Amino acid sequence: SDHNLDYPAAPDAIAWDTHYPAFAGTGKTPEFADVGCGFGGLLIALAPLFPETLMLGMEIRVQVSQYVQDRIAALRTTTKSTEETPSSSGPYQNVSIVRANAMKFFPNYFPKHTLSAIFFLFPDPHFKSRKHKARIISPTLLAEYAYALRPGGIVYTITDVLDLHEWMKTHLENFPLFEPVDEETLRAEGKGPILDAVRQSTEEGKKVERNNGDKWLACFRRIEVQREQ
Ligand code: SAM
Repeated sequence: SDHNLDYPAAPDAIAWDTHYPAFAGTGKTPEFADVGCGFGGLLIALAPLFPETLMLGMEIRVQVSQYVQDRIAALRTTTKSTEETPSSSGPYQNVSIVRANAMKFFPNYFPKHTLSAIFFLFPDPHFKSRKHKARIISPTLLAEYAYALRPGGIVYTITDVLDLHEWMKTHLENFPLFEPVDEETLRAEGKGPILDAVRQSTEEGKKVERNNGDKWLACFRRIEVQREQ
């Protein structure tokens, strides 16, 4: 339950400067959203690769989100800029996390057309059909994701549960503002490092690998439309 959580009334009520002090005054807001980020493996992998891009994880579990917050704070103080992780502001300054129920409060964090990527990596499966409405991808929520994503932005999904893969794929395919985009196309656009991180960098992804499980990837592009409501 989340009645004891504090939520921002709207994205412009969020003090992004406190999340990303090194970017204070730049007016930058998060461009990558990792929904259900767990222990933060994706964010930590991507942060040095895109040092000027702000990234935000959303995680509902208290201890887990606290752990990620501590992990980021430690990385910020102990890591020095290197040739591999160049940054005007020091490494990991561009990554942060909120404890939040993304299914209820996603629009409170991300204004229209501000995101270039949303990640749903190994979201909880909820096998039983009565749990369908508890899934992080649904027609209602897709409207919120499409609103926050800028045209051309990418939704990345991956799971080891085939049933969940089919569910996410079908709903994204059927939603008018998303079109499927294959891995080869994304790699040709320079998004290979993102795809590699999607497959390999998260704690859940590593667990699936140890167990020799399958990983089902599906990516979608937020389409450009001439006229929008
Ligand atoms: N993406 C991470 C990874 O690949 O390692 C974590 C995967 S884990 C199986 C799913 C995560 O989603 C859990 O940490 C869970 O607490 C979080 N989660 C579930 N429902 C959520 C919600 N409504 N809002 C935010 N996080 C949620």
